[in-house]
Amino acid sequence: MATIHPDHPLVTISRRGADRIRAGHVWVYQSDIIAGSDAGPGALVIVQEEQGGRGRPLHTRILGSAFYSTASQIALRMISPHPVSDLQQLLRERIRAAIAYRERFVENTNAYRVIFSEGDCVPGLIVDRYNDLLTMQVLTQAVDLDSVREVVISELKEKLQPAAIIEKVDARVRSLEQLPEKQSGLILSANPANAGMGETPVCSLSAIRTEFQMNGVRFLYEALGGQKTGGFLDQRENYAAAAKYARGEALDVFCYQGGFALHLARTCEKVTGVDSSRPALESAEKNAALNGIEIEWIEANAFDLLRDYSDQGNKYDSIVLDPPAFAKSRRDLEAALRGYKELNLRALKMLRPGGVLITCSCSYHVSTSDLLEVVSSAAQDSHRIVRILENRGQSKDHPTVIGIPETAYLKCLMVLVS
Ligand code: SAH
Repeated sequence: MATIHPDHPLVTISRRGADRIRAGHVWVYQSDIIAGSDAGPGALVIVQEEQGGRGRPLHTRILGSAFYSTASQIALRMISPHPVSDLQQLLRERIRAAIAYRERFVENTNAYRVIFSEGDCVPGLIVDRYNDLLTMQVLTQAVDLDSVREVVISELKEKLQPAAIIEKVDARVRSLEQLPEKQSGLILSANPANAGMGETPVCSLSAIRTEFQMNGVRFLYEALGGQKTGGFLDQRENYAAAAKYARGEALDVFCYQGGFALHLARTCEKVTGVDSSRPALESAEKNAALNGIEIEWIEANAFDLLRDYSDQGNKYDSIVLDPPAFAKSRRDLEAALRGYKELNLRALKMLRPGGVLITCSCSYHVSTSDLLEVVSSAAQDSHRIVRILENRGQSKDHPTVIGIPETAYLKCLMVLVS
């Protein structure tokens, strides 16, 4: 039997919160906390449920251990169904398990997500690998504690031996978690002249770059430029699938640094990439040059460009739509669906018979059936017959845990348009 550490505060949660945990989720909302909410920021706590009442004797039942947040609506994130006595040991085991999972299931790339927060039972931590560089994102008070950061960094260093680890700061998340502001920067370097663990970086951060490959396509990586943590690793397996189906003249809309476009160039005669971000297109062009590929890059608002092109009667054989998340919250859902509909309708109108549409949504709030409905309604409006080739999600290095729906967010439909 596991022993309960006397230093770990007890937090009592409601039946509703406990039922959620029993169903496989790991979050407990602030509103489901009955007692013990005076635990400190990021504390490791023991979670218990109160049972009985209504004439029956009250007793408590231990549900496991969790990280506590004093700021977030998600007050508890379970890290184990048992009381944890040695957190450092548990974190090391989780990191090793995450690495072993990638060794088993991730192939043909040296860039992938090494740790996907709740998807790898380390809530609040994201680590990506780009060849010899690792990036780390801290999303909760618990993971920001020095004791947690140190064990994470030392385990990553020992197991993956990166040339450097760079912390990518999400300023919005830090402010929501009431964590002090900080800058993205180098937190570990194999070159002792650069930095020590947790120290202020002393080398030029813009100089941290590397080259990685996925599916045999080469990419440049600048650790402190770009969006998210740099690339869109969650689409990696979809890039390879897209290249299988696409042909002829291809249009990659919302192309960023060319993830889809570079892959499509393998099977298509001509590829055009569209994005509103000039820096993204400049990186895309460098990536194309690195692969010896010619792609036309257009800086434009995708909505305007698709409207103009479809009005002009432009035609394509393959179109990719990979917009940013339109629905950041449930409230945005309706407006988001109108946006997706507009894009998909324009794309369907422009596809030649036998053409392929690859249409994505990375909004968690837009479900697969929502996206299917969008495409179905666009098919009706454009009088096209649409057959599903593949109904895909995120790459396996972003594991989806049954019972934690939030671990699945990316949808990618590949359809044939007659
Ligand atoms: N397909 C890309 C990822 C796309 S991310 C990949 O696989 O790497 C979404 C992209 O949409 C970003 O690059 C962003 O600059 C671009 N974007 C956002 N709003 C836009 C708009 N209205 N028109 C064109 N591009 C836009």
